[in-house]
Amino acid sequence: MEINFNGKRALVTGAGQGIGRETTKRLADCGAQVIALSRTREHLDSLAAETQGIEVICVDLADWEKTRNALKSIGHIDLLVNNAAIALLEPFIDIKPENIDRSFDVNVKAVVNVSQMIARGMIERKTGGSIVNVSSQASQAALQDHAVYCATKGALDMMSKVMALELGPNKIRVNCVNPTVVMTAMGKIGWSKPEKANPMLNKIPLGRFADVHEVVDVILFLLSDKASMITGTTVPIDGGFLAC
Ligand code: NAP
Repeated sequence: MEINFNGKRALVTGAGQGIGRETTKRLADCGAQVIALSRTREHLDSLAAETQGIEVICVDLADWEKTRNALKSIGHIDLLVNNAAIALLEPFIDIKPENIDRSFDVNVKAVVNVSQMIARGMIERKTGGSIVNVSSQASQAALQDHAVYCATKGALDMMSKVMALELGPNKIRVNCVNPTVVMTAMGKIGWSKPEKANPMLNKIPLGRFADVHEVVDVILFLLSDKASMITGTTVPIDGGFLAC
């Protein structure tokens, strides 16, 4: 299936590393004009050096006003990938209030902020668009030490469904992808040790973690017109983990 984004403008958050970085490159390969937003300047600089024609925005999404300011003259966007997130892992009994705030600021509140700005433009221009929110299997399954992260992703799934409900009449589709573990910088935080990884692998019918490209393929499909009747969904990319 050939996917073509010629003439489309895309914004990817958390583009500096991992899934967001690969999504940015693949969107550019498919003809989109991509704006890559992330937190660390050097990651964006190396991405720009590797990917012709992209624009970059360096901002901490946890800061609502700075993010608004950074996006105010972004121009029209057809495709939005809300991918940035953090995983602050700790046992439920030890959760620190500042980690709850920081996690919800980046994983949930920033999605509201960015999506409001981009969706307003789509509505005003009557062009419609497609939004993909990068959630997780953790939105639907309890994972040790992941209470706050799980809560943010559960919130993201439900918020995405309401976004689909309210934005659908403006021809804006909103979907989530829900990957299992992917060995990015974030994946390594939770799953590098065999004593953590092996029990998880045993619960995945396909017996392995996901590769970055397997997540990006689904993001691109949901962004594209090939998914023109799909909205409000949460799509597991989990080798069967959530089915069992
Ligand atoms: P990653 O390798 O840690 O990359 C995350 C990216 O988001 C980085 O570029 C990071 O910036 C950026 N970011 C984080 N906080 C930010 C902030 N406050 N403002 C702006 N940018 C920020 O993570 P990943 O594994 O690619 O994760 C991408 C998405 O997939 C996340 O939503 C995650 O929850 C989800 N996911 C991951 C896994 C997994 O196992 N890896 C599984 C399921 C779902 P820096 O360049 O500064 O680091």
